[in-house]
Amino acid sequence: MAEAQPGHAVPLADAGEYAADEAIAFVDIGAQYRRLKPVIDARIEAVLERGAFINGPEIDELERALAERANCAAAVGVSSGTDALVIALRGESIGAGDAVFVPTFTYMASANAVILAGATPVFVDVDEQTYMLDPADLARRIDHVRHDRRLRPRAVMAVDLFGLPADYPAIAAVAARHGMTVIADAAQSFGGRRDGRPVGSLAPITAVSFYPSKPLACYGDGGALFSDDAARAELWRSLRTHGTGDDRMQAQRVGMNARLDSIQAAVLLAKLTVFDDELAARERLARLYDARLDGEVVLPPRPANAESAWALYSILTENRDGVAAAMAAAGITTAVYYPHPLHRQPAYREQAPMAPLPVSEALSRRILSLPMHPYMGEDRAHRICDVLIYAIRRS
Ligand SMILES: *Cc1c(COP(=O)(O)O)cnc(C)c1O
Repeated sequence: MAEAQPGHAVPLADAGEYAADEAIAFVDIGAQYRRLKPVIDARIEAVLERGAFINGPEIDELERALAERANCAAAVGVSSGTDALVIALRGESIGAGDAVFVPTFTYMASANAVILAGATPVFVDVDEQTYMLDPADLARRIDHVRHDRRLRPRAVMAVDLFGLPADYPAIAAVAARHGMTVIADAAQSFGGRRDGRPVGSLAPITAVSFYPSKPLACYGDGGALFSDDAARAELWRSLRTHGTGDDRMQAQRVGMNARLDSIQAAVLLAKLTVFDDELAARERLARLYDARLDGEVVLPPRPANAESAWALYSILTENRDGVAAAMAAAGITTAVYYPHPLHRQPAYREQAPMAPLPVSEALSRRILSLPMHPYMGEDRAHRICDVLIYAIRRS
């Protein structure tokens, strides 16, 4: 590893020498810290010395850097991806009596945000090829809600699953026919692109998470909202700060305490210096997996016009649990995202689906995510593939 210069990251290196019998972690946040230590430490120290832990200058600096990356007018730092979604919904005055259409094959936070905002999630099935919101099923369920008349269809929450942007052109077309807003749950996909455009600019409202295992991550909870509409961004800034405006002693609306901490912004600014490099390393790892696993498993979707941020590399295989157990026995950590579609979880019993959600149910039985991070190195990736192929052929 090259000598670290103060304030500069050492070049991209893998997680170190690989020993053939070592355990392989799902993600290795420590390898990234070893690379960036001088930059991250200097950034955090500056916050400690200045003492502006809330609304420090790091927030403004980060918001400008994020907006530029996302090619949109405004980025607003918030306390988590979930809070970003709640603020997005409240900012559109979506609440009691409103329906928000959410894929059932996603993380629970997507639906929780809708319910926390006071609205009702309507679960939609996903497309067999992309595992993401199926525009045809979306159209059917919107029609159903319209005829049923109990809820007002207000928004579609598209989820960029595993780092790949959803099919926004098709989803926007369906939403527009019904005068609905599209909110991008891009918690996993910052750094991804579609039709040459970066995540953040693909929907009128985009919510991103910086949770430690996401592609761009801080050391705790954090998130951001993106929009081209300056008025919307101003409203979000108020909602994240108790609903206040210029006068911090008067609430203009009911808001939250949902700011991003200055220390987390400092960490993100440090990590942004190597983010492109890391995205490229994730793409190289995904291509290695693709090449080795082609014909053995169903490879992750790779639409020609989209680039994934590779938050997760997820395959489909029969006997998923047996294969995962064989890999665990060989010291390789895998994970299942997601074993239970939302409509099967106790918290959402009241939101019973109006029709079956068969694609999501089938996916939840076959999906398996392999270790994915920029510092893995090829030797580990090959060992993962060797063990996986052996386990599949034997099962
Ligand atoms: C991680 C995640 C969230 C929530 O983000 P937090 O920052 O953990 O609150 C929301 N939606 C999806 C799809 C996620 O993966």
